[in-house]
Amino acid sequence: MTTRGEEDPKPELIELVRRFVAEEVAPHAASIDRENAFPGDLYRRMGDEGLLGLARPQGAGKSTLEWAVWIEELAAASATVADIVCSADLVALILDEHGTDEQKTRVGPLLAGETVGAFALTEAQAGSNAAAIETVARREGDAYVLEGTKAWITCAQAADWAIVLAKTDPEAGTRGITAFLVERGDFTNGEGPYDTMGQRGTAVGEFHLDGCRVNEGAVVGEQGRGYRLAMKALDTGRIGIAALAVGIARAAYEAAVDFAGSREQFGQTIASFQGLRWMLVDMATDIEAARLLSHKAATLRDAGLRHTTESAMAKLRASDVAMKVTVDALQIHGASGYSRDLPLERYVRDAKLTQIYEGTNQIQREVLARQLLG
Ligand SMILES: Cc1cc2nc3c(=O)[nH]c(=O)nc-3n(C[C@H](O)[C@H](O)[C@H](O)COP(=O)(O)OP(=O)(O)OC[C@H]3O[C@@H](n4cnc5c(N)ncnc54)[C@H](O)[C@@H]3O)c2cc1C
Repeated sequence: MTTRGEEDPKPELIELVRRFVAEEVAPHAASIDRENAFPGDLYRRMGDEGLLGLARPQGAGKSTLEWAVWIEELAAASATVADIVCSADLVALILDEHGTDEQKTRVGPLLAGETVGAFALTEAQAGSNAAAIETVARREGDAYVLEGTKAWITCAQAADWAIVLAKTDPEAGTRGITAFLVERGDFTNGEGPYDTMGQRGTAVGEFHLDGCRVNEGAVVGEQGRGYRLAMKALDTGRIGIAALAVGIARAAYEAAVDFAGSREQFGQTIASFQGLRWMLVDMATDIEAARLLSHKAATLRDAGLRHTTESAMAKLRASDVAMKVTVDALQIHGASGYSRDLPLERYVRDAKLTQIYEGTNQIQREVLARQLLG
């Protein structure tokens, strides 16, 4: 039994991605995690198969809903790989929506899996309070000179280019932040890849911008509109993170169902104990509810409607569900769940991050309180 049913959107897409995931992703998930190594070959294979950039509005026949389906399938095998895809798709979306014609030329190679991009907002002292970034872009004639250090950037160590948020007017608060397209060579890597608890292998780390000189053509969107651009992108990004969390939870739930059906204690399968049956039922129900929230946000985006509230709700609920379901699935496995021979402990570690990045769940509640209560 799985939590996936006949009512799945786009069954033909699911078939394609399930085959790809089973053959190309699942066999490598444990070693990517163990070695904390960026899966560059796999990234290129996803580009070859047209599996990068599914959330792009102009992708023929593609939709945010399909993207959510794909990310869930991917995350059920490897949350790391799903996170790398989410990160690539986020920067592609930003350039699609705000980039100049010249900047948009970066999107094709990225989606072909030939280059890697990164989204660099966070700094060591500025996480939830993103408006407190200290990276500055000083105007010098018709150029800008960027100084600062970005931290906790997914794909930092692998990136060929990055969308970097910097202050062009430090006195103007969020209206003084501008997005820039910066090439490797103009930025250098600092510490990384970090030795993270979960979603290992995303090459997460630091960028140094040390007197990085870029011309006016590097501005993405308008000067002073970078914060808005970032928040809008995160509205979409959170749909991906919600789907990713659903995928992790589903994998853990399915493992728990299989295990409970075969493990015997007291002369019967443990699946026959009401205490565990109810746990499994609650897991399935929570996963379905989280999936529906993410699909609703995706459907609103596909209809061109505002989805800030729904994206935040989906990310909040799906990540909390992933955390609870993975811990409960491990519990159902007893001692074997606690062993690194099974992926249950990886699911728990991977799930934790979904409550932290793209805005912690406390911040999601703040976003929602502002949307709902003013
Ligand atoms: C593996 C990983 C990958 C990441 N990838 C990227 C990336 O690609 N690009 C990027 O720009 N960033 C990235 N991040 C950064 C991520 O978005 C931030 O870590 C996150 O926004 C939280 O910031 P912080 O870690 O500084 O925590 P802090 O902001 O210091 O928060 C610490 C705690 O205080 C709570 N808190 C803070 N403010 C409030 C409040 N107002 N009310 C209630 N509670 C509050 C938080 O919820 C948290 O529990 C990544 C982070 C990780 C761990």
